[in-house]
Amino acid sequence: MATAIATESFDAVILGSGQAGKPLALALANAGWKTAIVERKFVGGTCINFGCTPTKTMVASARVAYLARRGADYGVKTGPISIDMKKVVARKQAIIERFRNYGQQKMEATKNLDLIFGAAKFVDARTVEIALRDGGTRRLSAPKIVINTGGRPNKPPIPGLADVPTLDSTSVMDIAELPKHLLVLGGGFIGLEFAQMYRRFGAEVTVLEGGPRLAPRDDEDVGEALQAILREDGLRIECGAQAERVEGKSGDITVFYKKDGKSLSVNGSHLLVSVGRKPNSEDLDLAAAGISVDKGGFVTVDDTLQTNVDGIFAAGDIKGGPAFTHISYDDFRILRDRWLNKLDARTNDRLVPNTVFIDPQLAQVGLNETEARKRGLNVRVAKIGMNGVARALETDESRGFMKVIVDAKSNQILGCTILGIEGGEIMSMLQIAMMGKLPYTVLKEAIFAHPTLAEGLNNVFLALDA
Ligand SMILES: Cc1cc2nc3c(=O)[nH]c(=O)nc-3n(C[C@H](O)[C@H](O)[C@H](O)COP(=O)(O)OP(=O)(O)OC[C@H]3O[C@@H](n4cnc5c(N)ncnc54)[C@H](O)[C@@H]3O)c2cc1C
Repeated sequence: MATAIATESFDAVILGSGQAGKPLALALANAGWKTAIVERKFVGGTCINFGCTPTKTMVASARVAYLARRGADYGVKTGPISIDMKKVVARKQAIIERFRNYGQQKMEATKNLDLIFGAAKFVDARTVEIALRDGGTRRLSAPKIVINTGGRPNKPPIPGLADVPTLDSTSVMDIAELPKHLLVLGGGFIGLEFAQMYRRFGAEVTVLEGGPRLAPRDDEDVGEALQAILREDGLRIECGAQAERVEGKSGDITVFYKKDGKSLSVNGSHLLVSVGRKPNSEDLDLAAAGISVDKGGFVTVDDTLQTNVDGIFAAGDIKGGPAFTHISYDDFRILRDRWLNKLDARTNDRLVPNTVFIDPQLAQVGLNETEARKRGLNVRVAKIGMNGVARALETDESRGFMKVIVDAKSNQILGCTILGIEGGEIMSMLQIAMMGKLPYTVLKEAIFAHPTLAEGLNNVFLALDA
C-alpha cells in the first residue's frame, strides 16, 4: 500500500519564481512568514532566463555591430565587420547565469524561505502537490497561495508548421551560427527585436505580419516611422501577410502566404515563430481548486489580484493583460502592501509604461493621440523629429520623433510616444512628470543640462505652443 504524503503547512506558498514570486517570497519570509516558493525550471522565470535579460544583452551586441559598420560616418575607419555568434551567445548566457544564481543564492540564504525545485499542481483550494525535480513528491498547504507561473511562446495552427523545424523566442537565442535568411512570423515587438538584431548580425531578414501595419495599438505615424526605420536597416517587412502553409526542412523553409488577394511565398534558412504567448495554466490542475480562467486560459483576478477562490491569488503574465516584467513586479508590490503593510493597494489606474528595445527605442506611457481622440478628450498634440534635438544630431542618431499629448484645459501631460535614441529614458522623464502632475509648461521652461536628450523636452513643448 502506498504511504500517504504528509502535508506541510506554510503561511504562504508561491508557484513560480518570476518577477512577482521571487520578491514576494523574500518579503514575506523576511517579515517572518513561513514561505515556500516552487520553481520547475530556473529561478527568475522568463525575464531573466528567456526574456528581457538575454534579449537586451544580445541587442547590445547587435548595436555594437551596427555602430561598427557605421564607423565611417563618424570618421572612424574600421576593417570588415564579422560576428562571432558563439561569443554573442556565450556573453548572453553568462549574464543570465549571473542574474539567476544571484536570485537563487539570495533565496537559499533567506530564513523562513523554502525554495523547492519541482512542478506544482493544485490538490484543492488550500493544497498543492509538487513533483520534485530530483524525484519524489511533496504536499504543501497554506491559507495564501500565489500563482506566478507566467507563459510560454505560442505556436499557431498553421498547416505544416508542426512538421518543419522552427525557432521560438527562446531557442532563437541559442543558435550558434548566423542564419542565412531568417523568416520571422509575427511583427509584434518580440519579433521585431529579434528581426533587427539578426539583421545587424548580418542575416537577411523577412518579417511576415498578418495585421495591416506594425504597432497596431500605437498611432498610425508610429507604425509608419517604425517600418521606415526597419526597412532602412535592410529588413524586408510584409504587413497584411496571412501565413497559410509552411513547408520545408532544416535550412530550407518556405512560408506560403496571402497578401492583397495574391498567393505568395518566401523561402528562408530559419523560421522564427513569434505570434504571442500562452499562459502556463494547463499543468496546474486549477479545476481541483475551482479556480476560474478566461477563454485564453489566463487566470481571472479582481483588482486585488485575488482569483475567484478565497486565499488564491495570481500575479504577472498568468493573469493576462499587459505582459511586462514591471507589471509582474508591481503585482508583487500590491500583494506585499496588502499583506504586510495593510494598505489598500489595487491594480486600477496603474500608469503602465513600455519600451520596445528596437533601435531607436519605441517608448510609450499614458494615452496616445488615437486613444485620447477616441475618448473625446480636448487635447493638444505636439511632435518634433529627433533631428530637432541637438544631442541626437551630435551623436548622429536622429531617427524617430517625440510626440506628447496634453490636456488642453489643465495643461496636464496625458501621454507620450518617443521613438528615438534612449526613448525609454526620455519617456520615463515624462512619466515622472505625469506622476507628479506637473503641467507641461514647467518642462517647457525647465533648465536641462546642455546637450542632453532631456533638452528635447523643452523643444517638444515649445512646439506645442508654436
Ligand atoms: C523574448 C522576450 C523579451 C521580453 N522583453 C521584455 C522587456 O524588454 N520588458 C518587459 O517588461 N518584459 C519583457 N518580456 C516579458 C517579460 O519577460 C514577462 O512579462 C515577465 O517575465 C513575466 O513574469 P512573470 O512573473 O509573470 O512570470 P515568469 O517570469 O514567466 O515566471 C514564471 C515561472 O513559473 C515557473 N512555472 C511555470 N509553471 C510551473 C509549475 N507548474 N510549477 C512550478 N513552477 C512553474 C516557470 O518555470 C517560470 O520560471 C519579454 C518576454 C520575452 C519572451
